[in-house]
Amino acid sequence: MPDIKQLPPSVINKIAAGEVIERPASVVKELMENSVDAGARRVDVTIEKGGTELVRVADDGCGIAQDQAPLAIASHATSKIRNADDLFHVQSLGFRGEALASIAEVSRFLLRTRTGDEQGGIELQVDGGVAEPPAPCGCPVGTIIEVRQLFYNTPVRRKFLRTTQTEMGHVIEAFTRIALVHLDVHFTLRHGDRTVHDLPPTERWRERITAFFGDDIGDSLISIGGDDGTVKLRGYVADPTHSRANNRMQYLFLNGRHIRDRALQHAMGEAYRGLLLTGRYPIAFLRLDIPPEAVDVNVHPTKLEVRFQDSGRIYSQLLGTLRKKFLSTDLTARVQPAPSDASDSAAAAHDSTQTQRHREELVNWAKGQLSGPDREATELPPTGTAAGMTASGESEAVRPEQRRMEWERSGPSAPPFKPFPDYSQIGAPARPPSAPPEENDLSLPSPATAPLGPSVANSGIQVHNRYLITENQEGVVIIDQHALHERILYEQLREKVLGGKLERQRLLVPETVTLTPSEAAAALDAKETFAEIGIEIEPFGGDTVLVSTYPAMLANFDPITVVRELVEQLVSHGKTPGRREVLDDLLHMISCKAAIKAGDRLTPEEVTALLEQRHEYQDTHHCPHGRPTSLVFSKDELDKRFKRT
Ligand code: ADP
Ligand code: MG
Repeated sequence: MPDIKQLPPSVINKIAAGEVIERPASVVKELMENSVDAGARRVDVTIEKGGTELVRVADDGCGIAQDQAPLAIASHATSKIRNADDLFHVQSLGFRGEALASIAEVSRFLLRTRTGDEQGGIELQVDGGVAEPPAPCGCPVGTIIEVRQLFYNTPVRRKFLRTTQTEMGHVIEAFTRIALVHLDVHFTLRHGDRTVHDLPPTERWRERITAFFGDDIGDSLISIGGDDGTVKLRGYVADPTHSRANNRMQYLFLNGRHIRDRALQHAMGEAYRGLLLTGRYPIAFLRLDIPPEAVDVNVHPTKLEVRFQDSGRIYSQLLGTLRKKFLSTDLTARVQPAPSDASDSAAAAHDSTQTQRHREELVNWAKGQLSGPDREATELPPTGTAAGMTASGESEAVRPEQRRMEWERSGPSAPPFKPFPDYSQIGAPARPPSAPPEENDLSLPSPATAPLGPSVANSGIQVHNRYLITENQEGVVIIDQHALHERILYEQLREKVLGGKLERQRLLVPETVTLTPSEAAAALDAKETFAEIGIEIEPFGGDTVLVSTYPAMLANFDPITVVRELVEQLVSHGKTPGRREVLDDLLHMISCKAAIKAGDRLTPEEVTALLEQRHEYQDTHHCPHGRPTSLVFSKDELDKRFKRT
C-alpha cells in the first residue's frame, strides 16, 4: 500500500463539490438559498444555456463586509452557525459553509458584494479554485454571484451534463422549490432572453402556486391546516380530479426548506387511498413548522432529507389532518369523469365510477372512524358480537340463559355493528351501564356468549377484588381471577390464531415504532408470526417499523407500547426463537394484557361468566405462566379442621 497522505485543499474541495454540486441546478439552489438567508427582498436569477454557460444570482440582501468576502469562499466558513450545538437550532437554509467554496472550485466564479454600511463594493474572482486578490468595485447593496462554465476544469463531470433543455428543467425545479415558499421575496428567472418567471411578493400562497402551476391546479386546491402544539401544518392539496403519475408534485417544506420524506409521501398516499386510481399520486403543497431542535437537518449533503425526532407523530398528524379535511369537504362535486377521448371513454367512465365508489367507501369508512374511538375495525366481520350487545347497554337483570336465547334468536347480524373490538369470543364486559369505565375494562366473560357449563356450581363470590370463591364436588375452590381469565383468553386466542380467525383492526393512522437495530431485525424476521396474531408490521426505514393492524382485543392498549413490549420479549430469548415459541410468547403476552387484573371489581354476573368458562378449557388449573389458578380445600380437610370427624 502507498503511504497515507493528507489531501490538498483543492482536492478536498473538489470532492466536496462532487457531493453538493451535481449540475447547474445545484448552483442555482445554493445561491438562491444564500440570498434568502441574506434577507433579500428581490432575487434575480439569470441562466444561459441551461446554466452550463452561466448561472447568475443577484440579490438585494445584507451583502458581505469587505474583510469577510474572502472567507465566504473558503471551505467550511459560514456566518450561520458557530458551534455543533447550533446544528440543532438551524434557522437558515445554509449552514455547512461549503457551497461557495465548492462552486468556486469547479467554475469561473465572480462575486460582487456590498453591505449597507459601505460606500463601495468588493469583487472576488476565482477560477477553478484559484482566487485573484479582492478588488474594489461599484455595486448596489447586496450580492451578485456569477458562475460560468461549470465543471470546465473537471471534464468528466462536464461530460455528464445533459442537453440545455434537461438542465434548464432541473434549474426551474430548483428555482421553484425555493421561490414557491418564500412569498415575501420578488423572484425572477430568465433563460437567455426569455423571462421564465416573474413573481412579485404576495401574502397568499395560493397565488404563488397558481403562478407556477396555472389556474387549473390553483382552483383545485383544498386548504389544509393543523396544529398540535408542536407540529404546525399548513398548505394545500389538490382535489382528487388532479393527480400525477409520480410524486414530484408533492412539495413539502419543513421550516421553509424543501424536503423529500418517504414517510410523509406515504402518509399522503394513505390519505388519498381510494380517492385516486392506482398509480396516481396526489398533488400537495404543504408547510410543516416544527421547533428546529426537533429535527436534524444535517443528515444529507444537500439537506434534501432530514431526520425527525418523532417522525411517527408528524406522519400521524399529516394523515389525520388530511383525512379529517376530506370528510368535511364535499369532494363529490369535484369528482368529475376523467377526461376522455372517444376511444377510451368507456374506460374513463369505468374509472370514474370506480373513483366515485372508492370515494364513497372512504368517506363512509372514515365517518365510522370519527364517531367511534380513533381506531377502526374494518376487518371485524360485520356479524353481530356480544360487544355490540353490551355496548348497547343491556340490563344486567337479564338472566344469562335469557340473553343467550335472545342472542341466538336475533341472529348473528342483528346486534348493531359498532366499531369496537370484538370481545365476544373471549367474553365481553358485562358491567352495569352506570359503572364508570375503568382503564383496563377489558374482556370479562359475558353471560351472553358464555356456554353453559356442566352441572356444577358456577356461582361464586369475589373477595378482595382478586379471588373468586366457589365450590366443586371435592370442596371449596379459591380462584385467582387474573390467572384464570388469562388462561381462558390464552386458550381462546390460540384456537383463533390457529384457525385464522383472530379479529384485528386496521389503525386509522398506522403507527411508527422506533426500535433498536436488533429489535427491528427481530421484529421483521417474525413479521409473519406477528401477522398471525393480528399485528401487521412493515419496514419503515432505519430501525422504524410501521404497524398498520392490531388485535381487536387489545384495543384499549397503546399499540406502540404493546409492539415494543412484544419485540423486547422476542429479543430477550437471546437466540432466534422458532415460530411456535414466538407465537406462544406473543399469545401469553396478549392474554396477560387483556385479562382482568387483580384489583378489578367484578359484578356477580361477571363472576358467574368467568366461572362458567373455566370448564371450557382443559388445563385451566394453571395460568399460562405456570402459576396455579386455583386452590381446593377438600370437604374432608374442612371437616377435619372443624373437628367434624
Ligand atoms: P453557508 O450558506 O452554508 O453558510 P456558503 O458557502 O453558501 O455557506 O456561504 C458562505 C457564507 O457567505 C455565508 O455563511 C454568508 O455569510 C456569506 N454569503 C454567501 N452568499 C451570500 C449572499 N448572497 N448575501 C450575503 N452573504 C452571503
Ligand atoms: Mg449557502
